[in-house]
Amino acid sequence: METRLFFRKYRTPIILLLAFEAVAVWLWVATGKLFFLLNFSYIGICVALGVFLFAAGWKYAREFTQFCVGSYMLVFLGLVCRENMQIEGFWYYLFYGVLGAGTLHYAIAKIFGPLLFGRGWCGFACWTAMILDLLPYKQPKAPRKKWGFVRYITFALSLAIVLLLFWLGMADAYTMFVVFIAGNIIYYIVGIVLAIMLKDNRAFCKYVCPITVFLKPMSYYSLLRIRCDEEKCNRCGKCLRVCPMDVEVNNNSRGRKNATECILCQKCTKACPTKALKC
Ligand code: SF4
Ligand code: SF4
Ligand code: SF4
Repeated sequence: METRLFFRKYRTPIILLLAFEAVAVWLWVATGKLFFLLNFSYIGICVALGVFLFAAGWKYAREFTQFCVGSYMLVFLGLVCRENMQIEGFWYYLFYGVLGAGTLHYAIAKIFGPLLFGRGWCGFACWTAMILDLLPYKQPKAPRKKWGFVRYITFALSLAIVLLLFWLGMADAYTMFVVFIAGNIIYYIVGIVLAIMLKDNRAFCKYVCPITVFLKPMSYYSLLRIRCDEEKCNRCGKCLRVCPMDVEVNNNSRGRKNATECILCQKCTKACPTKALKC
C-alpha cells in the first residue's frame, strides 16, 4: 500500500497514539512521576492498536481494546495499586484537591476528553461494559424506557456517600478501596440483572450509570461522531436495528434522538449497505 494511502487509512490510530504519548510525557515531566508515562503510554498503545485493527477489518478489535484497557484499570490500578477509579474516587480526590489517578482519569476520559472523542470510553475502555457486552442481548428488542432520571439519583448518591465519609472522618485510602470493591460488585450485579430483565446488555448504561451525567452533555459537542450522508441513505433501517444504544444515526444532526448515547462502537457503519455512515 502506498505510504499516502496507509496514512489516510490509519491516521486515527496514529493521531490517538501521538495524543496519548503527548499527555504521558507532559504529565511525567510536570509531576516527575514515571507512573504517568507508563500508564498513558500503555492505554494509548492499546487504544491505537484497537483502532488500527478495526480499520484493518478485525471483527473483535473493539472488544480487544475494551479488555486490555478495562482489565488493566480494574485489576492493576484498582485492585493492585488501590486507586479508586470509580466516581466516588473522583469526588474523594477532588475534595482533597489532589491530582490523583481518579481526578486525572475523569478529566481525560469522562469530562473534557468527550469533547474530542465523545463516549469512546464507553465503547472501548469501560470495565463494567467489558463484562456486560459479553451477555447475549447485543441489540435491544424493546423500545427504550423513560428511566433516564435514575442516573441523577445514582450520581447524587455517589456524592452523598463520599460527603458522608468526610463528615464521619472515615475518608481515607482504605475506606475508598472498600468502596471501590463494593461499588464494582454492585455495578456488575445491577448491570447483569437489568440486562437479563430488559434483554438489553447496555440497560445499565442507559438508565443507571452516574458517569453519564458528565459524559452526555460533553459528548453532544464531540468532534468525533458518526456522520450520515443523508443523500446516500436509502432509509433501510439496518443501522437502527444493530445500534445497542438506540441512536437515530441515519439523521445527521447533533440533535438526533439519543445522540449523546453513541458509544462509537461502529456497528452501524459496518451494517450500512450504502456506506452512508462514517466516523
Ligand atoms: S455508561 Fe457507564 S457503565 Fe456504561 S460504558 Fe459508559 S461508563 Fe461504563
Ligand atoms: S451503532 Fe453506531 S450510532 Fe449506535 S452506538 Fe454504535 S456507533 Fe453509535
Ligand atoms: S443502514 Fe445506511 S442506508 Fe440504511 S438507514 Fe442506515 S444510514 Fe441509511
